[in-house]
Amino acid sequence: MASTNCGWCGDRTHMAMIVDPHRLPDRRREGRSVWMAAFICASETCRRLSIGWGELRDGGKPGYVKEAFPTSQLEWEPRHVHGRVFRDVPPEIAETAREAHACLSIGAARGAVALARAVVEATAKVKGINVRGIVAKIDALRDGGIISGLTAEASHQIREDGNSIAHGDIGDEPISIDDATAILEFMDALLDEVFQRPAKLNRLKQRHADRKQGNKAGAQLPPAPGGGPA
Ligand SMILES: [Zn+2]
Repeated sequence: MASTNCGWCGDRTHMAMIVDPHRLPDRRREGRSVWMAAFICASETCRRLSIGWGELRDGGKPGYVKEAFPTSQLEWEPRHVHGRVFRDVPPEIAETAREAHACLSIGAARGAVALARAVVEATAKVKGINVRGIVAKIDALRDGGIISGLTAEASHQIREDGNSIAHGDIGDEPISIDDATAILEFMDALLDEVFQRPAKLNRLKQRHADRKQGNKAGAQLPPAPGGGPA
């Protein structure tokens, strides 16, 4: 048994090997080689097949590969892609932000950062900011009181790192997974500040207003017939 997030259903499940592993040709190095096998997802509603592969040392006792293989560090196809749900964010922006996280979850740092940059631009547009250029857009968001000075600084950071990617300078400065993770954290903070937090606070305000309205309506009710509660 091997445990992983199933690339089909997304559940954390046990994967049962259903075909014995076989060794890939021409992948031998330093007494190790790459083995591949088919596994079935344990989820009753899924039961789809995934391919797992990993490196094992050559040789060993008979049956060694079959036993050792499922417990080693395996790579999977299809891979599980982690998305993220952005409540209260306009759907097209939420989808781009979700894709940025999906890129990051499969190690596509450059794709993640380029999409984060697109999220910043689209956020400004949705807020009615139509000035040219992303720098001016971020500054206008700050000047309009939509984001704080601190968030504006962070947004400029996203822009600088995402810019080279969007304009073909790939390779000048490699983006590490750590950098991309930090930039996506900024992106999440921006979406929270612009869309999610105001929406949450407005819901709280509305609930308070509804309750007040309810109390008022209750106070204005005529006394029950007979002068007391039924
Ligand atoms: Zn599954």
